[in-house]
Amino acid sequence: MKKWITLFLAAIFAATPAMAEKTIKWKLAMTWPSTLTPLASPPAKLAQMVSDMTDGNFIIKVDGKEKHKAALGILDMVKGGQYEMGHSASYYWKGKNITTTIFTTVPFGMTAAEQAAWLYYGGGMELMQELYDTFDVYAFPGGNTGVQMGGWFRKEITSLDDLNGLKMRIPGLAGEVFARLGVNVTNIPAGELYTSLDRGTIDALEWVGPGMDIRMGFHKIAPYYYTGWHEPASDMQFLINKRQFDRLPKSYQAALKVAIKAVSADMYAENYADSATAWAKMKEEYPDIKVKSFPPEVLAKMKEETDNVLNAYAEQDPFFKKVLTSQRQFMDKARAWTTISEFYYLQTSAEVRK
Ligand code: CA
Repeated sequence: MKKWITLFLAAIFAATPAMAEKTIKWKLAMTWPSTLTPLASPPAKLAQMVSDMTDGNFIIKVDGKEKHKAALGILDMVKGGQYEMGHSASYYWKGKNITTTIFTTVPFGMTAAEQAAWLYYGGGMELMQELYDTFDVYAFPGGNTGVQMGGWFRKEITSLDDLNGLKMRIPGLAGEVFARLGVNVTNIPAGELYTSLDRGTIDALEWVGPGMDIRMGFHKIAPYYYTGWHEPASDMQFLINKRQFDRLPKSYQAALKVAIKAVSADMYAENYADSATAWAKMKEEYPDIKVKSFPPEVLAKMKEETDNVLNAYAEQDPFFKKVLTSQRQFMDKARAWTTISEFYYLQTSAEVRK
């Protein structure tokens, strides 16, 4: 009897791996060149993790910008099925649907912790999916940069007058805000930023933060480095072709979702460490960099125009209004907590460390 049970169990175990060993090969396109860490880190780590979790049966090949040559074509390629997955930032699809912008970040908006709380536990993911359903793709948070720096300027900004006529590269809603302050706004691709600044095509630009900025060399031309207001918590995104995802075995879907969440949290940590290291190095090696904050009158005007830009889109587009209202309501609640917890802790901690 015992022998029969053993044989029976052996037969079941022999059958199970055959089902699980379904080999699937996917391709992922990302907006960034493969070397542009930490932005390029989540896709590479995801591919490794998913392969490990499926005994090497679910293979995801990651293509950087240098391979597919369509940095801003990721959504189209995932929707069309040329790539099953993509990694990019939602605000690059502003031309397709304005509401995509506020799933990346909002000037004077939520911090990374607040935004993650809104996405995962405040209804944000459901709203994001409602939007991306119109493109037949699934969208998931794909890593956050935290607070980005306000950018590099050739000259110090002491008043609103100094912004008038200034030529600056600054994308997204923040670009619209600066345009309302008299700035000539352009959106130049990453590869041409240094040359544009060097030749005087632009007087100022923003990119990300110390880690990624210093490598670009902007400080050699524009030594005034401003603190951030415009991208307080820029979220990257993983996009997945819906039809392809729905066809996956359930265990592979689960592996993918787990890996997405893990590598997203990992990018925030990697970028934080990278920024802290670069900041310390910058202070030591480039003492000529002048770190500044915009004057209060400039910041007040930026906030006023940010509200004007957001309210104008909300009036034109009911779905934008729905998402913006959800974000604003959640931020009011979350910010009260952030203030009494993180903010007061940082203040208290700074006082005792003096
Ligand atoms: Ca930026």
